Amino acid sequence: MDEKDKNIDLGDLYRDVVLDHYREPRKRTPLKVIDMKGEGYNPVCGDEISMQLKMDGDKVDDVHVDCKGCAISVASASMLAELLPGMTEDQIEKLTTAFRSMMQGKPAPEDLEMGDLDALEGVSKFPVRVKCALLAWYTLLEAMKNGKNGDGPSDPVTTEE
Ligand code: ZN
Repeated sequence: MDEKDKNIDLGDLYRDVVLDHYREPRKRTPLKVIDMKGEGYNPVCGDEISMQLKMDGDKVDDVHVDCKGCAISVASASMLAELLPGMTEDQIEKLTTAFRSMMQGKPAPEDLEMGDLDALEGVSKFPVRVKCALLAWYTLLEAMKNGKNGDGPSDPVTTEE
């Protein structure tokens, strides 16, 4: 048996970059103009998120994210929010696919700019935390699908699959 498998290092989970985003989440200022919005809830952990996007043509102009929950959910939301401005919906879909496969333990594509998201790689070893990490991403896809008519907390997306 490999000793490393029995003794999982929490340092893989809570890297400094992750804790930095948790303590000071980016993009917290509410937007004056909202083109898309979504709400999300992760019943397994109790994480809650609300996301707003302002678009400029097919690109994200600005984003507001308010996530209340564990360090992983808040950090993932903050890292995603930091990357979003300037991205097209196509790019967002590519990034989402890459991040989801990273959460399944597969390496992210070399040619994709993942920003601080690399620091969440270790989360794939903790299945319960994967739901926390993906909450913001499901909420983003929900917002892109529903646009301005994104439902409020009465119809939250959950990370149940
Ligand atoms: Zn959580």
